[in-house]
Amino acid sequence: MAFTNIKNQDSLTYLIAGGAGFIGSHLCETLLENGHSVIALDNLVTGSQNNIEHLAHDARFTFIEHDIKNPIPTMGKIDCILNMASPASPMDFENLSIEIMLAGSIGTYHLLEFAKEKNAWFMMASTSEVYGDPEVHPQKEDYLGNVNCIGVRSVYDESKRFSESMTNAYLRKNLVQTSIIRIFNTYGPRMRVNDGRVVPNFIDQALHHKPITIHGKGTQTRSFCFVDDLVRGIIRTSVVRPETPINLGNTTEKTILEVAENIIAFTNSKSELTFLDLPEGDPKRRCPVLTRAKEILDWEPEISFADGIKKTIEYFKNAP
Ligand code: UDP
Repeated sequence: MAFTNIKNQDSLTYLIAGGAGFIGSHLCETLLENGHSVIALDNLVTGSQNNIEHLAHDARFTFIEHDIKNPIPTMGKIDCILNMASPASPMDFENLSIEIMLAGSIGTYHLLEFAKEKNAWFMMASTSEVYGDPEVHPQKEDYLGNVNCIGVRSVYDESKRFSESMTNAYLRKNLVQTSIIRIFNTYGPRMRVNDGRVVPNFIDQALHHKPITIHGKGTQTRSFCFVDDLVRGIIRTSVVRPETPINLGNTTEKTILEVAENIIAFTNSKSELTFLDLPEGDPKRRCPVLTRAKEILDWEPEISFADGIKKTIEYFKNAP
């Protein structure tokens, strides 16, 4: 089957699985602003209706409470399907282990079947976690990763790796036009206050002058992308529709200690640091190579950590 490469972005209908989540809800909002129609699916296990209630008045927006482990409900014309659905915080990797594996296996399958039925473009939101605890630094898309398939993080890592394989199987068989993005650490407004990930944890602790919980010595690194930059990258992906996986993130790499110091400074907090055990399988360093994103999508992040963190702190001061 030959796919039409729709480059013009006249009003399209997007189905966003995980549309009430942190990144999904920002995508819904931006796509509506760009003149598209959006149907958000979410089972609300980690997503929240608070994230999308400001969109409810828009006649082009529909929310359907649905778990993608079940077949996708009947609906009309769909042009683009974005699979953003999965719990993504390491805090959830134990409690929601089975839910994560089902979302990233049968859930992806259901969405791909739906994309085939609708002749829609399908984008899989994968993750830097497919690289596991990387032995190659920084990480290019052709690095195959270092994942422990029975470790506590494996439910997330392996379900995303499975989803990538499944997505590529539909592409190879010419059943669906697909893209895969690998999202590196992303932060911003609408992360859950009790999300467990480093940025919301540290901001909440700093705002309440509570001890900042550093795992290990805090020498491990991450590279943090502000959500608005990521959303712009995803929108570029939906226009260009590359078949090859593409890293999306930010190359400004920081130690977790630096993150804590920055957040304490920006909040004028009296918090002190407390050092806890490093969780099992916690990657020692992580930073994307963004050459493909620059060359193929003509995209790179623009928002500095300082600017992004200040916006996130403002959100957390009044977070629901
Ligand atoms: N981390 C930390 N204190 C916290 C939460 C996280 O030191 O309260 C560390 C965590 O162990 C990891 C890094 O911060 O080394 C990023 O963790 P996060 O959960 O945000 O995401 P990850 O990149 O590990 O998936």
